[in-house]
Amino acid sequence: MTAQIISGRDIAQKIIQKELIPRVRMLNKKSVQPKLVVIFLGENSASASYIRQKEKFAAQAGVASEVLKFPESISEEELLVEIKKINADDSIHGVIVQLPLPDHINVDKVISTIDPTKDVDGFSDENNSDLDIRKSLLPPCTPKGIITMLEKSGVNVAEKRVVVMGRSRIVGRPVAEMMLFRGAMVKVLHSKTPPQEAAQALKEAEVLVVAVGKPELVRGEQLSRGVIVIDVGIHRREDGSLCGDVHFESTKKVASLISPVPGGVGPMTVVSLIENTITAAEQTAN
Ligand code: NAP
Repeated sequence: MTAQIISGRDIAQKIIQKELIPRVRMLNKKSVQPKLVVIFLGENSASASYIRQKEKFAAQAGVASEVLKFPESISEEELLVEIKKINADDSIHGVIVQLPLPDHINVDKVISTIDPTKDVDGFSDENNSDLDIRKSLLPPCTPKGIITMLEKSGVNVAEKRVVVMGRSRIVGRPVAEMMLFRGAMVKVLHSKTPPQEAAQALKEAEVLVVAVGKPELVRGEQLSRGVIVIDVGIHRREDGSLCGDVHFESTKKVASLISPVPGGVGPMTVVSLIENTITAAEQTAN
């Protein structure tokens, strides 16, 4: 068996062309121009490249974007003042603060200062809880992107054995919750899961989402034939190439579907961010 590749890159482009551009045109007809602001502290090169992709997708969809750069030395108080200015600016519909932040800045404080109706990363308590019930709010982008890429690939997770590796607040936990709402039988593995239990769960998984932040941790030999694998991790090897949390070559021999790194979950996360910005703009227009 050789797995079919789930191209997040292609799915994201189709979403932009078929869904997002028409929604932006409707907003423009109502004289609303959706706008995203990205706050970027310092010079981190990985962050800079993620921001370029966000600007590119925004431009493709017709969403205006602006990057507000500040020195890494900005105080927490000064940063919160900048966020409050954006909260009060009606021409801005979405704002994100590019992570990671320097140690002297409290991430939770920053996120809770962003107006939840403009929190297009979906990190605030208001947006990152009860996922599926309060449909009008803005779900976190990576979990939303994972669910969308499965749905667009014709995968229905209802009644399937779904295993999520990782329980972070921005990926593992919310994606597990979204899967539960869709009727999946969900098992979440984390660093405290006994190895034998983890091995058993991996063997039984019909759908596997891996978000552990460890390069090529999961190998095909640990999985069962036909499994659907979504690889969230992203790592740069010493030679400059990228890899995920899943060992791609061994896994594609047993999986039926697999998302690659790069070109899998990454573009789906970004397109979800742009969609959330449009949704936020639609809410102000209605
Ligand atoms: P994180 O906050 O570091 O969380 C990692 C999670 O993995 C933790 O819950 C940890 O468990 C768990 N874990 C660690 N070792 C494990 C093991 N051997 N077995 C099972 N679980 C294990 O990371 P994150 O923010 O969720 O990100 C995960 C990866 O996805 C990173 O590589 C990140 O760069 C990438 N990412 C990509 C995108 C994208 O758009 N492509 C977006 C977000 C993140 P404990 O809770 O017990 O410590």
